[in-house]
Amino acid sequence: MKIHEYQARDLLASYGIPVPAGEVITNKEAAAGAYKSVTADADPSKDGPLAVVKAQVFAGGRGKAGFVKLVRSADEAAEAAKFMLSNKMVSAQTGPEGLEVNKLLVAAGVDIDKEFYLAITTDRNTRRNILIASAEGGVEIEKVAETNPDAILKYPIHPLLGLQAYQAREVAYALGFKGKQINQAVKIMMALSKLYHDKDCSIAEINPLITTPATAAHPDGQVLAIDAKFNFDDNATFRHKDIQALHDPAEDNPAETRAAKMGLSYIALDGNIGCLVNGAGLAMATMDTIKLEGGEPANFLDVGGSASEEAVTEAFRIILSDPAVKGIMVNIFGGIMQCDIIAQGIVNAAKEIGFDIPLVVRLEGTNVKAGRALLEKAAADLPTLQAAGDLGDAAKKVVQAVG
Ligand code: ADP
Ligand code: MG
Repeated sequence: MKIHEYQARDLLASYGIPVPAGEVITNKEAAAGAYKSVTADADPSKDGPLAVVKAQVFAGGRGKAGFVKLVRSADEAAEAAKFMLSNKMVSAQTGPEGLEVNKLLVAAGVDIDKEFYLAITTDRNTRRNILIASAEGGVEIEKVAETNPDAILKYPIHPLLGLQAYQAREVAYALGFKGKQINQAVKIMMALSKLYHDKDCSIAEINPLITTPATAAHPDGQVLAIDAKFNFDDNATFRHKDIQALHDPAEDNPAETRAAKMGLSYIALDGNIGCLVNGAGLAMATMDTIKLEGGEPANFLDVGGSASEEAVTEAFRIILSDPAVKGIMVNIFGGIMQCDIIAQGIVNAAKEIGFDIPLVVRLEGTNVKAGRALLEKAAADLPTLQAAGDLGDAAKKVVQAVG
């Protein structure tokens, strides 16, 4: 489960990690007021105090997409808000259709001396949580990871002891923090590590973590979190009512929500071959085989072992509702799942919606004869159906059919 930046900032603040003042708005009329309130503490001797308007969506790359705007007046804030709420955001992380923006964060602007990257995630290779840090944080972090991976430091965290203060100090020195910044950075790392552990996160990222230039009040500058991204382990949110309460259904993928209601594991992907499979392992193998044949899966869909005819029919409705889908591959190895239930789902979907795109079906296992008989009987409703002998044959046929 993901949360918005404004929620992530509240979480950080509740663990003592400093963030600039901010306010959430949902319409452009509220922007001017929010600008005034977040800049209320700004130096009155300077005019046009800095604030930032930021789209609250579950995708990064907002800065580059024009959905993080620095503003210096209430009018500029209103204009930025109007733009963001009336245009879809397209970034490297959204796909070409973009994302609608419903909420904005208006935050106090800060003078930035340096931008750092700081994150904790679970590393499946070492089977530990790791702290990832870089002195080259900011909007180019993906490029840094590609072109200069040595600039990204990784520290494994002991599963029982957690992040140790000496490790955090080592990181702080390695990143080049100076003077009083060092203790501030250490505190932030320790707090982020505790937060990650307490709330069963799967990623906790601050990018950028920044230092401000020296001022009379802060001769060593300050260390602040400017942007944060969190993801939580869905298998653990049941024990965090506070985190569950942050769930924003407006950001859910509607097809994934429909599937979840029917007990189907469905994940939308970018390709054009819809997949209906039983078992997560077989679904992965099916997608691999499609790719091997040069195709691109449009989804991951595991109907599980005990899907009803109704759930299977709904699965086809969901796949067929995706306009990108140009062909469907059904790959069922009936163990607990019965082939005739799948076949009946196909027939129902054919009667209800109709398959006008290629449909390649490979059925094997429990009740396979009954399943094949059902499909043969409904042949008139299934003009695009091709039967396949095995997984490789099915993938080849569907890739050919859509190509
Ligand atoms: P994203 O990661 O989605 O692009 P960020 O919140 O990281 O969005 O913002 C992008 C950049 O905008 C930051 O790296 C920083 O340089 C600048 N920025 C963001 N918030 C502020 C702020 N409150 N004050 C000053 N600059 C900011
Ligand atoms: Mg960022």
